[in-house]
Amino acid sequence: MVNYISFLPVVLSAPKLDGTHTDFPARIRQFWQEKWAPLILLLVSCIAGTLVGGPGAIAFPVPALLWCGLVYPVFPTTILTLCIGVWGLVILSNGLGDSASLQLDVMTLVSIRLGISLVALAPIMLSCVTQNRNALVGRLQYLATHDQLTNVLNRNAFREEAARRLALGTSGFALLMVDLDDFKAVNDTHGHATGDTVLVNFVHRVKNTLPPGSLLGRMGGEEFAVLIPDCRQVDAVAEAENIRQSVGTEPVPAGDGKEVRVTASLGVVAVEHGDADSLDTLLAEADRLCYLAKKRGRNRVEAIEET
Ligand code: GH3
Ligand code: MG
Ligand code: MG
Repeated sequence: MVNYISFLPVVLSAPKLDGTHTDFPARIRQFWQEKWAPLILLLVSCIAGTLVGGPGAIAFPVPALLWCGLVYPVFPTTILTLCIGVWGLVILSNGLGDSASLQLDVMTLVSIRLGISLVALAPIMLSCVTQNRNALVGRLQYLATHDQLTNVLNRNAFREEAARRLALGTSGFALLMVDLDDFKAVNDTHGHATGDTVLVNFVHRVKNTLPPGSLLGRMGGEEFAVLIPDCRQVDAVAEAENIRQSVGTEPVPAGDGKEVRVTASLGVVAVEHGDADSLDTLLAEADRLCYLAKKRGRNRVEAIEET
């Protein structure tokens, strides 16, 4: 039974060798950089337990093992609990630090061995619960910060991240407001589902056009904002032109072999040194320029001089 309790969790939680768990060296490196503390404490507890000896020594690694369960995924935790189980049994067979153990009766030995392996189950349970909870929190966090149709940042998340980057204030920034033209007509002509597909493909095109490190967010409806770091006014206008052309020149695939022609209007502002407080002003300005582009005929870019 002790063997089952010790080995079975390792077998059950072992990663499948189907090629999905690749890049082990990188994961081990990351593990070592970020999560070494519980492992070190576990080693120290085992050394202390071995040096101090006595029946209590078997429980020395328990706090560290629980910490491991909180921090590590299930498989590494099962390996560690197996090691601690083996270590406990070695301590036990070495006489709990003295030779008196040789006189322990059979039932006491059975009890201690079972105790060791059952104690080892607690960190595994903790690790299972923690891993599930982390996955759930990650999923909720994603849902709370992303638009569910296009999978780009939602308005709040875009604002938060843009303000954070502006606060760093290390380089110039460009802020673009992009609004699809006459999108209501797309819905009215082709239906809402086609409109949705157009939006998804539009975002795909914009993403492919943007320079690395840019931030894209859906501000609402068919209106998107883009923050481009390290971007001067002249580059910002060029980026906006790229977006306008990538959207407008080719019709957007809209499912079932259908293609819909859409265009976008853009407002562009650029600042040399941003700060978090300037975000609302920049957004309002980009919005005003986007509206100006609409007024001047749509499918165009409007910008102001560098501030
Ligand atoms: P303009 O050129 O002035 O921007 O005209 P417009 O028709 O694009 O703007 P308007 O604000 O009049 O209409 C926006 C339309 O976008 C109306 C709304 O039904 C549509 N829309 C907003 N969100 C979604 C969405 O998630 N899916 C679809 N299919 N349509 C959407
Ligand atoms: Mg529109
Ligand atoms: Mg709009």
